[in-house]
Amino acid sequence: MITVNYEYKLKPTAQQKQTFETWLNVCKKVYNFALRERKDWVNSRKSPVNACSLVSEYILPPDTPRPTYYSQCKSLTTAKQIYPELQLPHIHVLQQTLRNLEAAFVAMWERGSGFPRFKKRMRSFVYPDVKPNAVEPGRVKLPKIGWVRMRMSRSLPEGFILKQIRVVSRASGFFVMLTYQLGVAVPDVPFSGHPLGIDIGLDKYLATSDGELVSRPRFFNALHRELKLLQRRLKHKKKGSSSWLKLQKRIARVHQRINDTRKDWHFKLAHRLCDKAQAIFVEDINFKAWAKGLFRKHTLDAAYGQFFNILSYICWKRGIFFLKVDKDYTSQTCPNCQTLTGKKDLSVRIHQCKNCGYTTHRDVAASQVIVQRGISAVGQPVEFQIASGGVLSGINGNISLDKCP
Ligand SMILES: [Zn+2]
Repeated sequence: MITVNYEYKLKPTAQQKQTFETWLNVCKKVYNFALRERKDWVNSRKSPVNACSLVSEYILPPDTPRPTYYSQCKSLTTAKQIYPELQLPHIHVLQQTLRNLEAAFVAMWERGSGFPRFKKRMRSFVYPDVKPNAVEPGRVKLPKIGWVRMRMSRSLPEGFILKQIRVVSRASGFFVMLTYQLGVAVPDVPFSGHPLGIDIGLDKYLATSDGELVSRPRFFNALHRELKLLQRRLKHKKKGSSSWLKLQKRIARVHQRINDTRKDWHFKLAHRLCDKAQAIFVEDINFKAWAKGLFRKHTLDAAYGQFFNILSYICWKRGIFFLKVDKDYTSQTCPNCQTLTGKKDLSVRIHQCKNCGYTTHRDVAASQVIVQRGISAVGQPVEFQIASGGVLSGINGNISLDKCP
């Protein structure tokens, strides 16, 4: 089963905008109320039986069942009779909000995520189940709201079935995310052709096993400078004043622009890499742990997690084999003779093997190790040759090969 998301900017009328805001607000209230109910239940179980709790809390009878998605959906139906506000949004949208809360708890129980928090604002709402014909070129039919116009920035996918609609509120306006599914199973792409290993670097954005180094795009600097300037100006404004709010909005828009630009660049880079290979191997990195450690600021800005997701998607779309391989010791192994060269200091930019004398940029060497691992992982004999026709790429050769603007 294949699921793809298509996103379009909405062109809602003033009244539709108002409706979106109201619905998001009601969703937020429902989410926070349901979370409160669950929290109270958890707290009421904490106090020891033979003593009073130090913090005051609701006393729930011991046989009160734990609030679940189903019990909360039931209370929602009852509450709808009393609070007319709850009758405004589509019932499925509100139920989906409760399902999201359930998912947040499951994530905590199973994957050790933090305790779910109250929401200051809701950014999106979802129709979990929609009719397949709810979308036509240029407009989308949202149940209980009606037809909303949208900007056709790309054509709708063909042969897919519409499953879900999400309306998202961003600094740059309202967007709709259409989730499509393909009913048939698509076979995995087999491994063949020219392989490419990719190593994500520290001073370069990434390096490929063909010896190409891609720099961080420079246009971020200008946007970041603008952001810093606005944030500095914000300090001098009175919190909550109209000029403060106005500036806050401008800052949100710059953030949005940085995100959009980065994503666009990721897509272009992914396509460019796919132009050059029939198989792509990357390191298998736990980005969550990574972002907490040494590379904190660095990775957050580069958004490698997002880039890898986009890359795997583009590979799938273009029929290119994609695999993540074990990342350990990639930077300490010589791709030419496979000896461990020992840990390199972060300042050492060049891989120079003491055993065989192979010399290249350290990130290129790491990406060459990655491609070799990938090839052996798919059960092929490693026939990988260091590129550039037998001539070892030296310090003055491929090392300054920055092809990206
Ligand atoms: Zn060597």
